Amino acid sequence: MQFPNYIDTRKAFDQGMSFQGRVDKKRLLRLVEVMAQPGRLEVDASLRVFRDDNNFRRISGAVKGVISVYCQRCLNPLVLKIHDDINLVLLESEGELTNLESGLDPWIIDGTYLDPSEIIEEQVLLSMPIVSFHDEGECSNDIIDGIMVEDSDRELKENPFDVLKTLL
Ligand SMILES: [Zn+2]
Repeated sequence: MQFPNYIDTRKAFDQGMSFQGRVDKKRLLRLVEVMAQPGRLEVDASLRVFRDDNNFRRISGAVKGVISVYCQRCLNPLVLKIHDDINLVLLESEGELTNLESGLDPWIIDGTYLDPSEIIEEQVLLSMPIVSFHDEGECSNDIIDGIMVEDSDRELKENPFDVLKTLL
């Protein structure tokens, strides 16, 4: 079953439902914001919603795919592989946190509808490194080094004392 835009939490968890497939980019706008342009963004996910033995409403599944991001060393795009598990418990307020088993992360909703793409988006963001770099030796550093050498040459030539010399 493909991802619906909204899951009605009043029924879906009691029935137990599964969804999987490619997630529409238009529903992953926070990822579009951080991706390198032009670049790739392909996210496949699987989600299962159910009630566990302790009567908690659980969301489990996985995300995988690719996203292009900028290398923080050479500022060129690189393709990052995404692979992470989803293991959440649905709560309606922070107050319910105290009853929580360890190892489960809370997903707090306001109202009765759950947007699966928000969960998937959040999980992808959490799984991404804070900064990304190309592998050693794969950066286009030559260009940057070239520019820096040129800049320092110019600074030497434009020494402010040269101006003083011409005044003297
Ligand atoms: Zn790089």
